[in-house]
Amino acid sequence: MTKSPRRAFVAANWKMHGTRWMVLDYATDWPEVPAEVDVVLCPPWGYLDRVRSVLDGKGIRFGVQHTAIEPRGAFTGEHAAEMAGDLGAAFAIVGHSERRRLFGETDEVVAGKFAAALRAGLTPILCVGEVLDERRQGAAETVVATQLDAVMDQCGAPMLAGCVIAYEPVWAIGTGETATPAEAQEMHAAIRAKLVREGVELADTVRIVYGGSVKATNAQELFAEPDIDGALVGGASLDAVEFAEICCAAA
Ligand code: PEP
Repeated sequence: MTKSPRRAFVAANWKMHGTRWMVLDYATDWPEVPAEVDVVLCPPWGYLDRVRSVLDGKGIRFGVQHTAIEPRGAFTGEHAAEMAGDLGAAFAIVGHSERRRLFGETDEVVAGKFAAALRAGLTPILCVGEVLDERRQGAAETVVATQLDAVMDQCGAPMLAGCVIAYEPVWAIGTGETATPAEAQEMHAAIRAKLVREGVELADTVRIVYGGSVKATNAQELFAEPDIDGALVGGASLDAVEFAEICCAAA
């Protein structure tokens, strides 16, 4: 199978992990990664500035794991997408399954956050994916299509051009259970076909990355699939050397 000319994209989702010292170690341990891979680190908000300052110049870009919908105001504890941009972030993860499940983010809220990221000049990394029961019932594609429709209905299909979509089957996140390359490829192809049908301009340039227990040991076989353009990596991204290995596998 031939790979497309789309640039590989690998992002780290540190979730709520890290310390000021871990950030320094990470920068020290970070090896060189081929320039043809887009590498993005999404640390917790509180460490974004520090991560950026110690890793700047290493060919890495930065993102946040969530934002508020509103640009400013009396929303105690929240962070606006505009603030992420002000701190040098270029990406925002939107609709991660942990935000949907643990913080009650509905499809409508996710669409609002997608719009907020665009408004602030950030590239959304839009997470979609089904839970295990939905897969067992044969509803995985319908669930993912509904999640995409919510964003397209609120923001307009053309707004997906240029964004990154992360297919993250919920049953594979943090479980050590990975979708097989064939299962992931099937969903990625279905997502791309949907984008083409919806008339997303240049749908072929939208990167669709896989997330769910990606490690250095399984990255290569996933990236060999024609529609898997990279990965969103949780647990394995906390180790600079392993995360860099995954980035190299995508090159
Ligand atoms: C994630 O949190 O987006 C993720 C894919 O986690 P993990 O790699 O740990 O499964």
